[in-house]
Amino acid sequence: QSIPDHDYPTVLDQIRTEIQPLLGQGRVASYIPELAKVRGDQFGMAVVTLNGQVSACGDARVPFSIQSVSKLFALTLAYQCVGDALWQRVGREPSGNPFNSLVQLESEQGKPRNPFINAGALVVTDVLCTRFVNPETALVEFVRRLSGNATLQYDDRVARSEMATAERNRAMGHFMRSFGNLHNPVDEVIAAYCRHCAIRMDAVDLARAVAFLAHGGVNPWNGERVVSASTAKRLSALMLTCGTYDAAGDFAFRVGIPAKSGVGGGIVGHIPGQLGVCVWSPELEPSGNSLAGSYALERFTTLTGQSLF
Ligand code: GLN
Repeated sequence: QSIPDHDYPTVLDQIRTEIQPLLGQGRVASYIPELAKVRGDQFGMAVVTLNGQVSACGDARVPFSIQSVSKLFALTLAYQCVGDALWQRVGREPSGNPFNSLVQLESEQGKPRNPFINAGALVVTDVLCTRFVNPETALVEFVRRLSGNATLQYDDRVARSEMATAERNRAMGHFMRSFGNLHNPVDEVIAAYCRHCAIRMDAVDLARAVAFLAHGGVNPWNGERVVSASTAKRLSALMLTCGTYDAAGDFAFRVGIPAKSGVGGGIVGHIPGQLGVCVWSPELEPSGNSLAGSYALERFTTLTGQSLF
């Protein structure tokens, strides 16, 4: 390819053209009724370098429901609260199962395989429920600081829509509580979890919010240390191995960067020392990752020659 390294606007324009045939090939998440209303053929992508340069294309300024991308921020905040004690309650292995699966919880005594599947995120949310009187406000404020956007909010309609249909997550919560691995009432944890998932952000906000991981754990926008460099490495490693559910192996193979996806169609990722990136396109592949988004990131690392490897 003739694109010079680091000419991100040109790269993004090319990617946007290349993904067009994929629009219409995936399916918008419909198990949360509010998400089913989102137009499927949207696509936006944003790259933010650590010196603050923003390149964006398409619908990069259209806010969407971050869904499981919130699991990354919730984990970071919970880690700030309890540190390595967290690993007594959540594992660090890829699950190889769908994000909402319950099957491994029985043989593993109510300890979820990792913090990026729903069961793991519920334990993480439980930690936040113990630590904060108002865990949804705590997470929203945390993400505001990470992104530098003080207006971020969660969408109450999406949160309610999920709460009304969250039977499987509730089942997981009760099951883990029976093993003593959920300390707060299940309904409280589910309410906080659904609000976290319902945070609305656009691709530029999200690319900015993940940049602290590319920057050794320091928020590049205000200089604040979020986590230690070692923790940033560990969170990134978990993203690589578990961030895209049972497609994580294929995603690492194709894209080669730490990433976290959500069923709203967002995927955030970063390249250590370089940049934060976010792509959004609501139609999903069967594992629940954005179809066009995964391809866009694959093309990004290929066209720029930048990845972990
Ligand atoms: N809120 C969604 C759920 O719990 C999040 C899932 C996801 O984005 N993979 O089902």
